[in-house]
Amino acid sequence: MDYADPPFRTILVANRGEIAVRVIRTAKAMGIRTVAVYSEADRSSLHALVADEAVYIGGPEPRDSYLNIEAVIGAAKKTGAEAVHPGYGFLAQRADFVERLEEEGITFIGPPARIQRLVGDKLGARRFFQGAGVEVVPGTFTAVEAKDAPSIAEELGYPVIVKPAGGGGGIGMRIAWSEEELVKAMRDASELAGKAFGRLEVYLEKYLPKARHIEVQVIGDGRGGVLHLFERECSVQRRFQKVVEEAPSPALDDERRERLLSIALKAAKACEYVNAGTFEFLYDPSTDKFYLLEVNSRIQVEHPVTEMITGIDIVREQILVAAGEGTSFKQEEVELRGHAIEARVYAEDPLNGFAPSPGVLKAYRPPEGPWVRVDSGYYAGSEVPMYYDPLLMKIVCWGATREEARRRLVAAIEETVVEGVATNLALLHLVLNSEPFVSGDYNTRILEDWGLLDKLGEYTYRRAAVGRPAKEASPAPKAVEAWKLAARFYGA
Ligand code: ADP
Repeated sequence: MDYADPPFRTILVANRGEIAVRVIRTAKAMGIRTVAVYSEADRSSLHALVADEAVYIGGPEPRDSYLNIEAVIGAAKKTGAEAVHPGYGFLAQRADFVERLEEEGITFIGPPARIQRLVGDKLGARRFFQGAGVEVVPGTFTAVEAKDAPSIAEELGYPVIVKPAGGGGGIGMRIAWSEEELVKAMRDASELAGKAFGRLEVYLEKYLPKARHIEVQVIGDGRGGVLHLFERECSVQRRFQKVVEEAPSPALDDERRERLLSIALKAAKACEYVNAGTFEFLYDPSTDKFYLLEVNSRIQVEHPVTEMITGIDIVREQILVAAGEGTSFKQEEVELRGHAIEARVYAEDPLNGFAPSPGVLKAYRPPEGPWVRVDSGYYAGSEVPMYYDPLLMKIVCWGATREEARRRLVAAIEETVVEGVATNLALLHLVLNSEPFVSGDYNTRILEDWGLLDKLGEYTYRRAAVGRPAKEASPAPKAVEAWKLAARFYGA
């Protein structure tokens, strides 16, 4: 497609780090002028440097900058931005932000406020989708009081999981294997929910310990159609947060894949989904059933694995749909090709309780090579601020087969050099080489049940000796005429 006439002249990216850089790249490729916003802590961040224009919007605390709706809108108006892409996190799922943009006549590149409200309320969403004939994870449909929890848990059957109704990001969820644990879990979850989300309500679900997290990438074209871009498997998690993701899921054969995709499309049609979204499911291999877990109304961190197996740029589709142009592809044109795996490299210290490890990147050399994609918001000498999610880079490798993709990713991790901050690179290497991951037969408890976290303390791997300066400079070469050099190559 030629963008002599791009869908927007200017868009503002209301985010930072790798996702802001990634959105800016696609916008540029479409011929759209890009505006970045940055906080005090991000003055020399990559996203602010690669955009056509960058606007300072406030202090380093997210509430003063990336969560400051009026500051973001002020920057959009000042720069003449016609649309705003929110990335993920920050303002990406805020219905009030979408509505404020509407008032200003600025387009939100994402699902409308109506969808944000519906899927942002976990209990409301459970009621809606169950009512629409989409099976959700067994559990309650209203908030649960501490005094009622034991009898409800008895009925569901232990183990159960206590979840904050206003939750997200895996925060505050607690598993209980007995009534005694449940009493404590109710107290802890509610307390954390109050602190993190300003809402005390919690609810219960049956906890499925052998489940796999499998999600479907959906795009509503804004013209009444919903399309899918196949599924991603995201079962490698730590504390309910994804660490390694892959597409397609090694758990599904064609029959199961068809079944999952049709459930996801049914759910997306029921809520008249618009723009990009992810329908997350828990797959229980013991019963061979898919349960809807939640809907994420934004682009997700792990979207590149889908882009690599389909060849479709999801950000570009988001922009086209937001501009009212529909998707650039038809469902029957989407083909699943090969396999892709993503590893999230964090500036954190796995040997110190995974504490975030902010600091200056003294050395920084991301991997390269055929079928290796790196999405990052950093460069050598830049700083990982303490204020934000410490995701350093995502390394995504494609292969004709799952094993080829896996080997490429292992080699890419061995080539990666990061100095100045602690990283989880060793954990990623360990996981990718572990027996359950290699076989593809794993679930959301892979780190705990296969003892991978316990092995980490002693785990070492061979890092390629790149990125380190040579001890001595080689002697200065004598000037050589070009023809002589060429002769050396071609043996003349
Ligand atoms: P959040 O919205 O906070 O990210 P989710 O409901 O999406 O929380 O759950 C995150 C992860 O927690 C899931 O991918 C899964 O690993 C685990 N989980 C959540 N609910 C259950 C459940 N009922 N049974 C088993 N695992 C669960």
